[in-house]
Amino acid sequence: MNNPDGQFQVEIRCPNCAKEVDFMVRQVFDWLPQKSTDYPHFVEAVEASRRPRRQINVDDKRSNHLRQDGTDKITAYGFGTCPKCYQPAILMFNSSSKNLSFLRNADLESALVKTSFAAQYITLLGMVPSAKKYTAPSALPERIRQLWPATQASLDRGDPPSRIVSECRSILDVSLKELGEVEGGRKTRIKNLRDKFILTDDLMKWANDLWEDGNDAVHDIEADGSTAQQHVEFLRLFFRIVFELPAEIEAKQHMAIT
Ligand SMILES: [Zn+2]
Repeated sequence: MNNPDGQFQVEIRCPNCAKEVDFMVRQVFDWLPQKSTDYPHFVEAVEASRRPRRQINVDDKRSNHLRQDGTDKITAYGFGTCPKCYQPAILMFNSSSKNLSFLRNADLESALVKTSFAAQYITLLGMVPSAKKYTAPSALPERIRQLWPATQASLDRGDPPSRIVSECRSILDVSLKELGEVEGGRKTRIKNLRDKFILTDDLMKWANDLWEDGNDAVHDIEADGSTAQQHVEFLRLFFRIVFELPAEIEAKQHMAIT
């Protein structure tokens, strides 16, 4: 056995640092579920083995563990450390004992270990810790909901601060439009929101700062990491005040009426 520990490499987004990395999974164990009812694929496999032959789709050319009628299905796990942040993670996946046996006999430098095992012979079930999910509050306008998760992920990933600041500025711009402010320069539109009591004085000042910092960032002037972090925090607060709170208050009033 060239690879008794069943090492293999897989491309994942690290659940700790959110970077895309080539993760080396070490010490792979197959794992026998205690209760088969907890593991639907196990039950499926047992059922498939009892199914009359003619019902089986003979054209299904996928690996045994991926086929409906496949009987050799196992759940396995292995652990490793991220090459970027050095934090550990456990990966859990479905495969087959035949695939694992191939892997354990493969050379550590082979394509099977480096790429194809992860690409073709497993179905990734999940990771511990689980990958951070980036979401946007449901009260945000659709266009902002599409942009916001990527900006938060960029910050955690440590992308260039100037890019993050410039994204924050674009999101502020979209927000102004969504709030009906389309006439005049950006600073006038921000001031209009203050005049309508949507923003406080301080929020207006911050929005103006973001507009200026964002302008510098667009023109490739260095923004630092803490500026990027502060603008992301500002947008969180801004969204809370201009989109989420009004929606929550409306929902509450609606409940009081009905
Ligand atoms: Zn990492």
